[in-house]
Amino acid sequence: MKRLRFPGTFCVGNDILKNFASYASCYGKKMVFIGGHRSLLAVRELLAESFQDSECSCEFVECGKTASLSEIRRIAGLQEVKDADVICAAGGGSCMDIARTIGNGSKKSLIMIPTTVASDAPCSFVSVFYSDDGSEVIGDELYHKCPDMVFVDSKVIADAPARQIASGMGDALATFYEARTCKQNANGTGITATAMALAGLSREMVLRDGYAAYQSVELGIVTTQLENVIEANCFLSGVGGANTGCAAAHGIGDYLCKLPGGHDFMHGERVYVGLMVQMILEQYPKEEIRKLMTFGKRIKLPVCLGDLGVENIKETAKMLTVGLQGDHFMVNLSCDYSEHILAGAFVYAQCLAETI
Ligand SMILES: [Zn+2]
Repeated sequence: MKRLRFPGTFCVGNDILKNFASYASCYGKKMVFIGGHRSLLAVRELLAESFQDSECSCEFVECGKTASLSEIRRIAGLQEVKDADVICAAGGGSCMDIARTIGNGSKKSLIMIPTTVASDAPCSFVSVFYSDDGSEVIGDELYHKCPDMVFVDSKVIADAPARQIASGMGDALATFYEARTCKQNANGTGITATAMALAGLSREMVLRDGYAAYQSVELGIVTTQLENVIEANCFLSGVGGANTGCAAAHGIGDYLCKLPGGHDFMHGERVYVGLMVQMILEQYPKEEIRKLMTFGKRIKLPVCLGDLGVENIKETAKMLTVGLQGDHFMVNLSCDYSEHILAGAFVYAQCLAETI
């Protein structure tokens, strides 16, 4: 069987938060916004303003930085969350995972309001759970549907640090290459042509408009290129990725958390290093790898272990390859990734990066 899952509605626009209630009222009357301290500071006033003269009501709930099971239980137990018809996340990946779990668990409408586009989490139907201290992924859950609405205010994204949108571009570029890998393997028959096309469009738009979007965020201005990249990072990569699959870029990216200081790098940054290694393993033409490395460097994405602060590249590569052998994403590769080949790819990525 082939299956495609999409969010119900995707909106992107300048200063649209102040009209949020009118767009969201069809999903329910009582809305609760779950977000981190800083995210709520950025959007609370605008959101609240949209409820003036509205028949809907709103509540705000501050969540912790980690989507741990205990934090999800705490938030789910709050009266304003229990009373709500619509669960909304306002912030980054963690509050989305918390809201997604609560919304799906209680069968309430679910709306995502990303305040950064650092990954493709907003459109996803998967929640990832972490240990209480946030240092370890302890599991994930796949739900039957994507959020009912994803609502992105481009002005809010333009005001976020440029590093965030760059990380989202790293995640989005990986989507296409990983989709291709998953399509080629024995389980790839369930992947639709639509999902492949969306993943490809995401890559195209990021490579075309990514640098301009990065500059827009550095300047704190909204441009068409910025909105194109928001669409690519958030919607195309989210829908493309969720309906295809992950491979070495994410397998390696997640595993790089084990490096000292690995957690200081963002998801999309680590995934981009993984993508370079995947492209070497899959024998992409050198020009294509150089193109992606050059692009990554322009938007300050790390492209090799050295960029993650690793000094002894060979030793570290060797250490990483052992644990990656049984990884649940690496198994989607159809090429050789035995220990010495994988270690070689890490070192070769370093060597290529140093020539750019
Ligand atoms: Zn990702």
